[in-house]
Amino acid sequence: MAIDVKFWGVRGSIACPSPDHVVYGGNTSCVEMRIGDHTLIFDAGTGIRNLGKDLIRRKVTEASIYLTHTHWDHINGFPFFVPAYNPAARFHVLAGHLKEQGGVERVFSAQMADPTFPVPLSAMQSKLTFEDFTVGTVLYPADGIAVRTAPLRHPNGATAYRVEHGGKSVCYVTDTEHMPGQPDEVVLDFIRNADLVIYDSTYTDDEFPAKVGWGHSTWQEGVRLCQAANVKRLALFHHDPDHNDAVMAGIEQQARSQWSNVFAARDEMVVVIE
Ligand SMILES: [Zn+2]
Ligand SMILES: [Zn+2]
Repeated sequence: MAIDVKFWGVRGSIACPSPDHVVYGGNTSCVEMRIGDHTLIFDAGTGIRNLGKDLIRRKVTEASIYLTHTHWDHINGFPFFVPAYNPAARFHVLAGHLKEQGGVERVFSAQMADPTFPVPLSAMQSKLTFEDFTVGTVLYPADGIAVRTAPLRHPNGATAYRVEHGGKSVCYVTDTEHMPGQPDEVVLDFIRNADLVIYDSTYTDDEFPAKVGWGHSTWQEGVRLCQAANVKRLALFHHDPDHNDAVMAGIEQQARSQWSNVFAARDEMVVVIE
């Protein structure tokens, strides 16, 4: 079976809908991977709202939701994820960075609380379960599907995911900061020989020096890591909201001239790994 990847939100930091953000899209991080009947969701940024509508249309009532971390741009679409209000649905939310800090359920409850949100988490009538795993754990959402995890360099922590099925693999590696000239050995090992790597490409190498410590990386570092790790394709992801369509087109063109196996992820883009 193939791994069907669909991008529902490709931005970092904050949603940025505008007439200048139409081609690449303005929703924050959310990626769906479908393997047969199984639906895996990565992050719950504003993109998860449209994914929710699509799940209802497809009559999908069960999924696992893997969070890289719980910064706003990765969770604040969740209150608008309509399938979670359906009593017949079930969702399992997992995070790898909060075991020592009170757990992911507490963060989700706090997000949906007075006076900043009127509907509490308990209003979500689906069977909602939460799991805090130790990063490094391998998760098995179904027979024949493995989800590996690794720690990323990011303020408050973040987790990378590698989905493996039938000899194919897709890595979701956001939000992470590199050190110029020193490839992150953890990431390098984690993505080795993957068919597709979705990588934090918030900045360009030119912009990076002004953003040290912000927890993000560059498209050039993505290319360097993927080439060194024998990766087949690289998806630039977590685009800076200040990178409008014109800037993004320039970045994509420059990246592709450096390595033809790169593309910039866009809202609602589908990539099939088979
Ligand atoms: Zn982010
Ligand atoms: Zn973050």
